[in-house]
Amino acid sequence: MDLEQARAALIDAGRQLSDWELVIASSGNLSMKVGDHVLVSGSGTHLDRLEPGDLVLIDVDGRTVDGTAQPTSETPLHLAVYAATDAEAIAHTHATASAAISCVDTELPALHYMCLQLGGPVRVAPYATYGTPELANSVVAALGADRSGALMANHGSIAYGTGQPQAALDQACERLRILEWLCELHIQAHLIGTPQVLSTDQLDEVSRTTARMRAERQQMS
Ligand SMILES: [Zn+2]
Repeated sequence: MDLEQARAALIDAGRQLSDWELVIASSGNLSMKVGDHVLVSGSGTHLDRLEPGDLVLIDVDGRTVDGTAQPTSETPLHLAVYAATDAEAIAHTHATASAAISCVDTELPALHYMCLQLGGPVRVAPYATYGTPELANSVVAALGADRSGALMANHGSIAYGTGQPQAALDQACERLRILEWLCELHIQAHLIGTPQVLSTDQLDEVSRTTARMRAERQQMS
């Protein structure tokens, strides 16, 4: 994917996140790897109406390579996640249910097996001021080696995707949407009672079932 295609892909992704009602005003940011560089949304831009000029190509140290926009204030966060994981694209928003849970809990319990799409119960990164290396470190620790999404205390949510560029960007956005749905489910379930939490054994059994079904599909094809 060249730079022009990457710009178009990020613009589409911003609209998609907005269509899913994950975007509030100018909050949130998007990025994807383009070769050795990272294309990020600009500071103060609105994800629901990004334009090519709102996107800026930076190197792994955050220096501008192409574009006139100021990179997002969360650039340290994006660069830290790329450095610590195999992420190829990252999405971050202040979606309501995710932000609400991030104010209350230290981990999103496994109420539904769809949490496995983020690696399991989602951890909440302890609070730090936006844009700081402290927040970047906090989120990297919450992701660890086994999660592709995290909540950020009193702030919002983040998810990343891996693999080929377009698939990775789609996956990052989809995971952010799933995380928001899991948070909404958590809130709704608590409104009507005390939810049952899935055990590690039950989640492991789901993972084994998924692997078995995938193998059977491959055998049939
Ligand atoms: Zn934010």
